[in-house]
Amino acid sequence: MREEAVSVNEVFERYDVGSEVFVRGWIHRIFKVGGKIFAWLRDSSGIVQVVFDKGVLNNVDWESIERLSRESSIGVKGVIREDPRAPGGREILASNVVIYGYAPPFPIRGGEDIEYLLDIRHLWLRSRQMTAILKIRHTILQALKEWLVRNGWWEVTPPILTGSAVEGGSTLFEVKYFDKPAYLSQSAQLYLEVLIYSLDKVWSLTPSFRAEKSRTRRHLSEYWHLEIEGAWYDMEDVMKVAEDMVSYAVRKTLEERRKELEFLGRDVKKLEPALQTPYPRITYDEAIEILRRKGFKIEWGEDYGADEEKALTEEFDRPFFVTHFPKKIKAFYMKEDPNRPEVVLGFDLLAPEGYGEIIGGSQREDSYEKLYNRIIQEGLNPKDYEWYLDLRRYGTVPHSGFGLGTERLTMWVAGLEHIRDAIPFPRWRGRIYP
Ligand code: ATP
Ligand code: MG
Repeated sequence: MREEAVSVNEVFERYDVGSEVFVRGWIHRIFKVGGKIFAWLRDSSGIVQVVFDKGVLNNVDWESIERLSRESSIGVKGVIREDPRAPGGREILASNVVIYGYAPPFPIRGGEDIEYLLDIRHLWLRSRQMTAILKIRHTILQALKEWLVRNGWWEVTPPILTGSAVEGGSTLFEVKYFDKPAYLSQSAQLYLEVLIYSLDKVWSLTPSFRAEKSRTRRHLSEYWHLEIEGAWYDMEDVMKVAEDMVSYAVRKTLEERRKELEFLGRDVKKLEPALQTPYPRITYDEAIEILRRKGFKIEWGEDYGADEEKALTEEFDRPFFVTHFPKKIKAFYMKEDPNRPEVVLGFDLLAPEGYGEIIGGSQREDSYEKLYNRIIQEGLNPKDYEWYLDLRRYGTVPHSGFGLGTERLTMWVAGLEHIRDAIPFPRWRGRIYP
């Protein structure tokens, strides 16, 4: 039987009761009532009830229908009927059936713990929760890319294997590259900086790798990093890009993924303030004051972590910026504030409700001498950065950029407890399955 298939969603949205349709998918639930078998058929667009009635079936025997179980894959031809007891109020009365694959008892029945579900991630990804999250993630990624392209930013494709580390450090994955070591990229920034000299405004979406030592709810060892870099942009200009992009992504998600957000139990009211820009801005100094008032013992000049970020987010109902960090806790390439050399023109964007940092960015040091000195002060080898220094030697320009963790953004928008669910195949210390 070869038929033009329609999606489950179309059974509700496009066809009238009484139409004959052919739908394909997987059995989500199956049960017997009276002499009939009822199945909930799932495809990417939704769930529809199918009724198997011995007297109506044409091309298969009853025994093949009785052997169907959860996750069997089938195609069903039949007439759409109204039924208030069925999900969505409609069902399909099966007249012809194609059985693509039977399934032994499915190893997920509900109530399993997360470690178990990670062990069978390849099957758990069929769940309605994960499907809803993946759709939200899709919409967020589309919105971010759409915003950039519409606003004249060029997409570029930096390498993932790199000869040197951007910021150096302990979280670098080393790989064997022929007979020499190479590293998995932690950030495309330096490559993007090269490309602004021909394209002005560039962006890339790539995996970034960080061998984070501790397992936290917001760190992966491989994540999808959206980075932008703009010539002639100062810190304030690029912060405006950040808030416009994020608010656009939230708006799109609220418009297009409301069903999925509601399925996940996300309180969408809490996302609405994020539609309003500009986002609030506080300096690092003000952040330290807030934290001390809240009882944290923290000195000016210290870096802060997840607990402190969480406390800061209690002060805001929308994303907000923290700016002007002490130079000594930030990367060597951040531009020093001309009015206050002990701080840099760097910023983070923190998401509310305890989520914390989703973007980190800065204006970049554009003076050859200052950058060279910073490289020396940080104990890095200027030889490794010769090409990077060249960018300041040949026609330097003021420029700025940032990196956005797409799973961090997804996690907040979807209201997830853990970053692992914002990506289909999460990797972190000790886990690389499947
Ligand atoms: P954090 O302090 O939260 O560990 P970071 O300051 O080291 O992050 P950046 O180097 O500023 O991170 O990277 C830019 C963005 O990439 C961050 O704002 C965050 O959204 C995301 N990001 C960084 N590390 C991770 C990670 N291990 N897993 C997922 N996303 C990450
Ligand atoms: Mg950061």
